[in-house]
Amino acid sequence: MISVKEALEKVMSTAQIIDVESISIHDAIGRTLAEDIFADRSMPPFDRVTMDGICIDYDSYQSGQRIFVIESITAAGSPTVTLQDKKKCVEIMTGAPLAIGADTVIRYEDLKELDQAYEIKEAIIRGKNIHTKGSDHSKETVLLVKDKKIKAIDINVLASVGRSIVEVYRNPKVAVISSGDELVNIADLPTEYQIRKSNVYMLQSRLRELGVESKTFHFVDNSDSIYTEMKTILEDYDVLLMSGGVSKGKFDFIPEVLDRLGFQKIFHRVAQRPGKPFWFGVMDDKKVFAFPGNPVSTLACFHKYFVPWLYQTKGLYYRPLKVVLANETTFKPDLDYFAQASISQAEDGRWMATIGHGNGSGDMVSPTKMDGFIELPKGKDVYEVGGVYDFMMF
Ligand code: AMP
Ligand code: MG
Repeated sequence: MISVKEALEKVMSTAQIIDVESISIHDAIGRTLAEDIFADRSMPPFDRVTMDGICIDYDSYQSGQRIFVIESITAAGSPTVTLQDKKKCVEIMTGAPLAIGADTVIRYEDLKELDQAYEIKEAIIRGKNIHTKGSDHSKETVLLVKDKKIKAIDINVLASVGRSIVEVYRNPKVAVISSGDELVNIADLPTEYQIRKSNVYMLQSRLRELGVESKTFHFVDNSDSIYTEMKTILEDYDVLLMSGGVSKGKFDFIPEVLDRLGFQKIFHRVAQRPGKPFWFGVMDDKKVFAFPGNPVSTLACFHKYFVPWLYQTKGLYYRPLKVVLANETTFKPDLDYFAQASISQAEDGRWMATIGHGNGSGDMVSPTKMDGFIELPKGKDVYEVGGVYDFMMF
């Protein structure tokens, strides 16, 4: 049985960028840029007025003139006008190009309106209230750098440079598969000895939160039918996320079938609780994360292994939150312990984690009252208050 650290290293060594694809910016949120984005022109593209008011030639003001007759008026979106008479002004709006011959904008708040003229009431500064052409950046400047996770503010920039289509790293195609003869569909009424299948919907929803679409499948506990169905699924998917059928039971066929299909087992069983029977293997560029079926085990394995793996295939780096343990905990087995905990932020900004106890890894309701797993590495029995640990938010 390998350690959690070793298992994670092995999983991460299989995480590469899958491919590049072009998508609409309407779908780009949360994806990773696979190209640098350049400015298609300098920004602002013209001397942009930043206040509603008038524009004048400052030299006239400096020579003592305070009243300026309106020569013309210009709005945002209008072509550049020229101030013909340097003793007059152009009435001008935010977003409009500064009039040729003018160099200073005075906002209405600093003016007194007269008949067809304005009087300057406040001291003014040459060049004020103008967003100068090219002052943000010049044409061809790199605005967004490859490997950046696309946020809403990046969509703003993409749109501003005319990029309705953008290159991103392709998400893995993920099949989420449950297995077990005891599992029935949500709409079915289980008999006394059956339960409703739930893990796959949890995983599918969590994947969606992470920006990845997936499809769900179900296998009955029969080695030959699992073999046939898995073979078909593998034609269309990069990753199989499985829950159930990897423990020591007589009907836990998943490892044996994966072996028959030609998968290389990277490891089976990890020194952790929950999720010890986790099986991980690869075949060419296909990956199988086969998690034990108990909901809390599936949840822990997904966050400990699959989430960092997914980040890396997106060209991103996953960094768990650091938290401070708020309640002393005893855990004696020689295993890393992923304890369910709720977190809250203290006055000093630190995140404090309070471990709560559910009724084992089959209790799917206890995580609903928690925020994630605090990772308590093996090597001691008592974990004192104040210790700093990684936290996997779910
Ligand atoms: P297994 O890993 O197949 O031995 O399953 C462990 C436990 O998790 C059993 O009690 C299963 O009934 C339960 N289980 C397995 N798969 C699911 C699932 N998709 N949804 C809910 N419970 C499951
Ligand atoms: Mg099973």
